Amino acid sequence: MAPDGGVCKQVVESHPKHVKYDAGMGKMEKNSTLTKSAIGLGEKHRIPSTNGVHELLECPVCASLMYPPIYQCPNGHTLCSDCKSRVHNCCPTCRLELGNIRCLALEKVAESLELPCRYQSLGCHDIFLYYSKLKHEQHCRFRPYNCPYAGSECSITGDIPTLVAHLKDDHNVDMHDGCTFNHRYVKANPHEVENATWMLTVFNCYGRQFCLHFEAFQLGSAPVYTSFLRFMGEDSEEKKFSYSLEVGGYGRKLTWQGVPRSIRDSHRKVRDSLDGLIIPRNLALFFSGGNREELKLRVTGRIWKEQ
Ligand SMILES: [Zn+2]
Ligand SMILES: [Zn+2]
Ligand SMILES: [Zn+2]
Ligand SMILES: [Zn+2]
Repeated sequence: MAPDGGVCKQVVESHPKHVKYDAGMGKMEKNSTLTKSAIGLGEKHRIPSTNGVHELLECPVCASLMYPPIYQCPNGHTLCSDCKSRVHNCCPTCRLELGNIRCLALEKVAESLELPCRYQSLGCHDIFLYYSKLKHEQHCRFRPYNCPYAGSECSITGDIPTLVAHLKDDHNVDMHDGCTFNHRYVKANPHEVENATWMLTVFNCYGRQFCLHFEAFQLGSAPVYTSFLRFMGEDSEEKKFSYSLEVGGYGRKLTWQGVPRSIRDSHRKVRDSLDGLIIPRNLALFFSGGNREELKLRVTGRIWKEQ
C-alpha cells in the first residue's frame, strides 16, 4: 500500500516544478491521487471533495477514515487509534516499534478537508468538513433503515422500497392496501407467554407504509399482549399520521390512539416504552371467550393523516 522509498523521493523532488511533476505521473499510477492532493494542499486552504486527500486519511489497516488521535510509526506509517490499540505497539506496515507519535500534520489536513456524505449514492448531496461529517452521517435522513421485523436478528438494511420487498420475500409478511384494518389473532396456547408470537403486517396507505406489530411479552411479572404501529419513514414525519386500535368482546372494549413511531426507533425501544395498545392476558382471554385455552382476538384499527 505505502509507496516505496524511491517513489516518495520522486514526489518530493518534483513538487516545486509542476510540469516536471506531471511528466512523472505516468510512472506512478496508483499513487497519483496521493501526489495530486499534495499539490492541491498548497494552492487552496479548503480542499474540495473531488481531491484524493481523503485517501490519506484511510487507515491502512482497517480502511476506515481516521479521526484524531491519528498515530504514526517512526517511519511515518499512519494508523487509526483503534488499530493502534490492537497491534501491540508494532507498526503493521514495517514492524517497527510504534510508541506514541501523533501525526499532527494529517490531523490538521483533515480539518480543512471537505467530503461528501457517505450516503451520497443514496441521495444525500451535502458536503461536510471532515470532522462534522461523522456527526451528520449519524442523523443523515438518507442513511439506510434497519429491517423492522421483530423477533429475529436480521441484519438487512436499506431504503423503504428495499425493506418492503425484503419483508414480503424473506419474512413472508402480509401486505395490505388501505387505511383501515380488521385482524384476527389466534393462538392455541396463550399461557406460554414467553413463547411470544411475533406478528407483523405492513399497510400501504397514503402512499406510505406502516408496520402493525402484535405480540406477547412479560410486563414486569404480568403477561400481556401488545399491538402498535410503526411508520416506515423519518421520525420528523411520523407526526403527520395518527392511528387507533380497538380490541374487545362481550360488551367491553379497549381502545388506543397514538402516533405511529418511526422505524428509526427500534422495535424493542417502542415496545418497552409501552407506546401502544396493552392488553393484560386475563382481559385478552376474556375477550377471546370460550374456555380460556385459546387466544382469539379481533383487533380493528385505522390510520389517518393529521392536517
Ligand atoms: Zn484502523
Ligand atoms: Zn512503519
Ligand atoms: Zn447525508
Ligand atoms: Zn429482515
